[in-house]
Amino acid sequence: MSDTADRIDTVEMPREGLAVVQASDISSERLELSADVVIIGSGAGGAVSAYELARRGLDVLVLEAGPYVPSKDFTEDFTESLETLYEDHGGQANTDGDLLVLQGRCVGGSTVVNGCVSFRTPDFIFEEWHRDYGLTDFTPESMAPYFERVERNLSIQENRPHEIARHSMVLSEGARKLGWSVKPFKRNIRECALTGHCLSGCKTERKQSMLVTYLPWAAAHGARIHSDTRVDKVLTENGRAVGVEGRVVDRTGRHVADIRVTAPRVIMAAGAVQTPVILQRSGLGNDQVGRNFACHPSFYVGARYPQPIHPWRGAMLGVYVDEFMHPDKGGFVLEVGGLGIAELCMINEPGTGKPFVEYMQNAPHMAGIVTLIHDHNVGEIRWQGDHKAIHYQLSDKDFPSMMASLKAAVRMHLAAGAEEVFLPSSEALSVTREADIDRQVDKLVNKPQHLRMVSYHPQGSCRMGTDPAHSACDPQGRLRGVEGVYVADASLLPSSLIVNPQVTVYALANYVADRVT
Ligand SMILES: Cc1cc2nc3c(=O)[nH]c(=O)nc-3n(C[C@H](O)[C@H](O)[C@H](O)COP(=O)(O)OP(=O)(O)OC[C@H]3O[C@@H](n4cnc5c(N)ncnc54)[C@H](O)[C@@H]3O)c2cc1C
Repeated sequence: MSDTADRIDTVEMPREGLAVVQASDISSERLELSADVVIIGSGAGGAVSAYELARRGLDVLVLEAGPYVPSKDFTEDFTESLETLYEDHGGQANTDGDLLVLQGRCVGGSTVVNGCVSFRTPDFIFEEWHRDYGLTDFTPESMAPYFERVERNLSIQENRPHEIARHSMVLSEGARKLGWSVKPFKRNIRECALTGHCLSGCKTERKQSMLVTYLPWAAAHGARIHSDTRVDKVLTENGRAVGVEGRVVDRTGRHVADIRVTAPRVIMAAGAVQTPVILQRSGLGNDQVGRNFACHPSFYVGARYPQPIHPWRGAMLGVYVDEFMHPDKGGFVLEVGGLGIAELCMINEPGTGKPFVEYMQNAPHMAGIVTLIHDHNVGEIRWQGDHKAIHYQLSDKDFPSMMASLKAAVRMHLAAGAEEVFLPSSEALSVTREADIDRQVDKLVNKPQHLRMVSYHPQGSCRMGTDPAHSACDPQGRLRGVEGVYVADASLLPSSLIVNPQVTVYALANYVADRVT
């Protein structure tokens, strides 16, 4: 890998802000640029690639579809943040409309709005990659230097006692009563301000997102960053990448300019929904592009407690239960997360009129658990003429682990003393006693528009592997069938991770960048 002795703090850093060319800076109708490498997207994969390649001396240009929002402009208002910082204003969903697929769309991508949870890839996932996809180069040992580098660079450390908020303490007690293993998260945060506003961007810049780490470091090595710039196509000649084309569109949706970049290397880092769409629009790659989409479909299981919890206070994510993580033990993880008023309305069926008022009056008494499952790669991303489509239905194979995760979350709430646990379905269902868990949860069936699912972790839509019939990319991240196009984002993951993926994406992007020739 690249020289780990490189010290980030030896580069010249701007005193504040990041030099970004925005739509408002552009006066011509057509922009013609060139670079050694053009990177599409500035999130986890794009930012790490930009830094690693710029420090090698390459002329790097990063094109980001979303706006540049400096930290001081974050509002700490979730509904407004969905509008400004998220793909499709927070409304990106599957074609059935029962799975919200949340993704950041701004300079720094999803890392700006994420919850900071930082896991390495579990060992059993590497074993699966080895066994099913021939990826013998990826082992816990071979990837350890990449993980260590990212963890050091992003100040990843375990939550300290004051970073375990009341919701996490109460639910830890529930897990302990059940005899389940519960642990503090590791997070990429320096001296957390405990505001609980992670999903709206970190105003205090303590979250070590790409906006305040790898992107400024890349810029200090000469990388140029353009926001408001949406890439539509990768351009090729004689089987080789020669650049990209797209549009500069301002925040009101006004088309400001067309852009064309000449570059012999293109790094795809637009995230697991957009990367395959751009490749499909360009007619590049094999029939695996867009397939094998996984997303950790999640429930947010809320419950009412007799005592006030104030779920919006303190560090957003405190502890997790790993008891059931291995597929042999159920294949799910429970994460205790804070929630604000807007999320309270999104996760349950709050009713209307008096029931709604009562539900909301109980807001200070609520706490929540997020479930994650190790889903199979059954989804598909498609460019359908003039729009993207996310085809993802919870598979019958994954339904049992989804239900097992829900039953476990309900059990943990009740053990922690909850009075009523709300089930995440389109019908208003709840559980008030242990004896009713199976009866109530078993009313849920696997049919469209019945469950309220959220994905924070789209993955796998250009997966890597050794078999060209089952993978879009080779084990070095090179797109099959064309020279000079690399994939360096969550699209590359061959199977879902079960744990939160940002650290894996950073490490893989670094791995791929080291192999860019
Ligand atoms: C609300 C939320 C909470 C999360 N919490 C956690 C967590 O606690 N821990 C964790 O590990 N993971 C978390 N994640 C997931 C994590 O942030 C992602 O897995 C990771 O950022 C994925 O990296 P990526 O490079 O694939 O995509 P992203 O980081 O999403 O970056 C893709 C970028 O490409 C841009 N783009 C898209 N299309 C184009 C185009 N056509 N042209 C130019 N640019 C384009 C997008 O605007 C975006 O900025 C969370 C995600 C969300 C949304």
